[in-house]
Formats: sequence, C-alpha cells, structure tokens
Amino acid sequence: MTGSERPVIDTGKAHSARVYDWFLDGKDNYPVDEELARQILAIEPQAKRSAQHNRWFMRRATRRLARDMGVRQFLDIGTGIPTEPNLHRIAQDVAPESRVVYADNDPIVLAHAAALLRGTAEGVTEYVQADVREPAAILQQAGAVLDFERPVALSVIALMHFVADGDGAFDVIGTLVDALAPGSFLVLSQLTAEFNPEAVNSSVRTYGAGGVTLVPRSREEVGRFFGGLELLEPGIVPVDAWHRSDDEGGSGPEREGAATGGPVPLYAGVGRKP
Ligand code: SAH
Repeated sequence: MTGSERPVIDTGKAHSARVYDWFLDGKDNYPVDEELARQILAIEPQAKRSAQHNRWFMRRATRRLARDMGVRQFLDIGTGIPTEPNLHRIAQDVAPESRVVYADNDPIVLAHAAALLRGTAEGVTEYVQADVREPAAILQQAGAVLDFERPVALSVIALMHFVADGDGAFDVIGTLVDALAPGSFLVLSQLTAEFNPEAVNSSVRTYGAGGVTLVPRSREEVGRFFGGLELLEPGIVPVDAWHRSDDEGGSGPEREGAATGGPVPLYAGVGRKP
C-alpha cells in the first residue's frame, strides 16, 4: 500500500464514500453522513436503489470484461468503501491471475483497504491513495503493478459526478485513456438529471449544502467521456439496463422483482480503445 499509512478521518463533514456506504446499508459511515443521506433519501426515494443498481453494474461489467474480453488488468478509481464482492473478487473468480489496482482519495477507504487487498495468491491487488484529478500520479503508481503495454480495464464508477468540468473532468479521463494500450476498456457510470430533474437537482443542492460537489451530466456529456472509444452494446444506458439479464437467477436486480420505479438516474457505458 502506498500513500499515508495513518488516515485522518474527518467526521465533522459528510463524505461521498460514506454517504454511499449508508445507501448500501454499510456500517462505515458517521452521523454527519447518515444525516445527509437521510435528507437525500427524503428528496430522492430512489437513492438506495440507485446505489445498489450501480454496484450490480460494476459487477456485470467486470465479469464481462474478464470472461468475454480476456481482460486481466484492472484500474479502479473511486473505489469506495469495500462492499462484498469487490471488483477484484469478480475478476479473480473468472481469472485468479488478474491484477487489480484500486485508487480513492478518501482516507476512510484507505482505512478499510485491507479488505481490498485480500486477493488470490496468483493475482495481485494493490491500493493507492490518490485523487483522480491528478491522473499522472495514479498512472505512475499503478505502473508498479499494471503493464500499460497490455490491455487494462479502467473503471470510474459513480466517480465523475464528484468532479466538476472546471476541475478538468473530461481532460482527466482523456489523460487516463491516452495511457492505455489498444484493446483496453473504459467502464463508467455517472449521475444524470435527465429522468427526474427535480429530485436530482434538489439532491445536488442538498449535497452542496453538505459540502459535497455533485455534477449530473446529460447522455451527450457522458458520451464525451467515451470520445475515441468504441462503445460496447447496448451503448450508454441507465445502469440498470446495461446487460441486466446477466444477473438472472443470481442475487442481482432480477431478485428485486417488479417493484421498481423508472430508470435509475445514472448512465453507464463501456467503451473499447481501438
Ligand atoms: N466506485 C464505487 C464507489 C462509488 S462512491 C462504486 O461504484 O460502488 C464514489 C467514490 O469516489 C468514493 O469512494 C469517493 O471517496 C471517491 N472519490 C470522490 N472524489 C474523488 C477524487 N477526486 N479522486 C478519487 N476518488 C474520489
């Protein structure tokens, strides 16, 4: 593990990783996070369902890339607090030799990183404490584990809506994708206000009041992240619609039954670098 070995957790201010953890019924959040999460849930009753569907998307996309596309290297930025099964478990279940680098800028993720490092003996899992807004530093550290001459699946799942355009959101992804070899993939999901603008825009204000920047993007803007890449079927769709039937008979969304309301307000896509 690299970076600071003694994370300082700020419990006076809500953090996106911990609010998300609360939505997933996790235990690694503080009263300040729960308070913000409950405010969001009052405005956007879909918040928990969205977080769960986002997680399922991560698993389906990772499984497809490992199983069908033969990807054996993964760089996951904005990893979040560990929630079983994590990405390396999915990849290493398919191919135990898979090499996985996780990165997040929140010290609480570092504090829980041990769960992210319990991988197979054949493979590698590493955690780096880093900010996506400094992509060169991430690439440099990840280079100790990943061979950038060979395909890598770069995942930024439910991350980029925390990075404003003014903070270089599009350039950051451009820099990361530029560093990848042909045959690599970008896996991305991102909040949108296109389906339920009132609830999402109100959530943006509530997050903002809690000190967390949240930037919903249109389908077209999400498409910009995939510039120069070939989108895999079915293109950019709500997270719950991306190969949802992969989960049939499993523990994923199919188990949820019909008691759902509308599309999940997160767009998702997977693009391949030609
Ligand atoms: N990818 C996971 C977690 C999403 S929650 C999943 O989809 O299940 C968003 C995560 O992004 C949080 O863990 C938060 O700490 C992290 N994050 C937010 N801004 C970041 C930044 N600038 N650099 C790196 N990570 C960031």
